[in-house]
Amino acid sequence: MWEQGPSKQKGGKNNIFCSFWISKTFTFFLFNKRISHSHDRWLGSSLFQLWQWEDAEIMVLLQVMYTDLDFIPTFNIEPEVLQQFLFEIYRRYNNIPFHNFKHCFCVTQMMYGLIWLTDLRSKMDSIDLLIMLTSAVCHDLDHTGYNNAYQINARTELALRYNDISPLENHHCAVAFEILERTESNIFRNLSMDQYKRIREGIIKCILATDMSRHNESTLMTILIKVSDISNEARPMEVAEPWLDCLLQEFFNQSDVEKLEGLPVTPFMDRDKVTKPSSQTGFIRFVLLPLFIELANLFPCLEVFKLKGWRKCTVCPSLKQQNRAQSENAAKSKEAAGGRQDSQTDAGPDTSKPESQST
Ligand SMILES: [Zn+2]
Repeated sequence: MWEQGPSKQKGGKNNIFCSFWISKTFTFFLFNKRISHSHDRWLGSSLFQLWQWEDAEIMVLLQVMYTDLDFIPTFNIEPEVLQQFLFEIYRRYNNIPFHNFKHCFCVTQMMYGLIWLTDLRSKMDSIDLLIMLTSAVCHDLDHTGYNNAYQINARTELALRYNDISPLENHHCAVAFEILERTESNIFRNLSMDQYKRIREGIIKCILATDMSRHNESTLMTILIKVSDISNEARPMEVAEPWLDCLLQEFFNQSDVEKLEGLPVTPFMDRDKVTKPSSQTGFIRFVLLPLFIELANLFPCLEVFKLKGWRKCTVCPSLKQQNRAQSENAAKSKEAAGGRQDSQTDAGPDTSKPESQST
């Protein structure tokens, strides 16, 4: 299914490499896609239309983000090293339905948007912003399409290596620093030892925090990366819905393999049990909303974003119907009770708490 979807990657990775290098200047793409000088607002918007961009263009957009946030002069990053770094990142994302290079971009774009929206540049050190953006870029490197539960149950190489402790996230992190170990792709090569140490610690914390099944220390940086990682539902329906198809495809692939190998089947991944609305209601209620609310408490200016996002959780018609029915019921009971009721916390009839859907 996903091969026909919008995440189709055209050509081999070497072809992309060629077109990436040909496009050394941003001008061609910027001109073609009519990016205005206020592209920080456009590129940072939750309304950003993700699916129209080819992978080579996405690499340019990522460079634009590093440039816009002034990382290039501040950290003395050479443009060719940034390009090489981004190409290695691209190369190390697998061609799988969901956790692919486009997901990496999607999460990074949301992080970039949140940085602007919350005016983080006036509140945090540039080095922390660099940590957050780079963590988003690296957060799912070499994802295999099978989650931690599978890794542990199937006793994969990753589970053995990391003793069942966030095997995937530990691996994403290790791959990121493998790329950064190489001088030609080390965007931090001109920083001091202390700065590098701080960045490494920060990136490790942020990437490990994307394992939603573990309770990590909550900091602004970890909240922001977790929100970015699961923010598809806060996007317009035409962007969000294809992502849900991709995610379910990856889930179904996993549960098929689990059945074949006689492993415990993760319930929310079972194609015989899961429907689009049922997959979303519990996730939105127990994972997405609490995180969005936590973030909106820190940044009241995001209230609009949060509510907009929630209202846009109409990822398919049947869920829309459920939401409408809930709103009507909520209105009725509000009338009956004559008091206040927070309809946002009433996420749906499916009250089963799901595990992490996206890591
Ligand atoms: Zn992710």
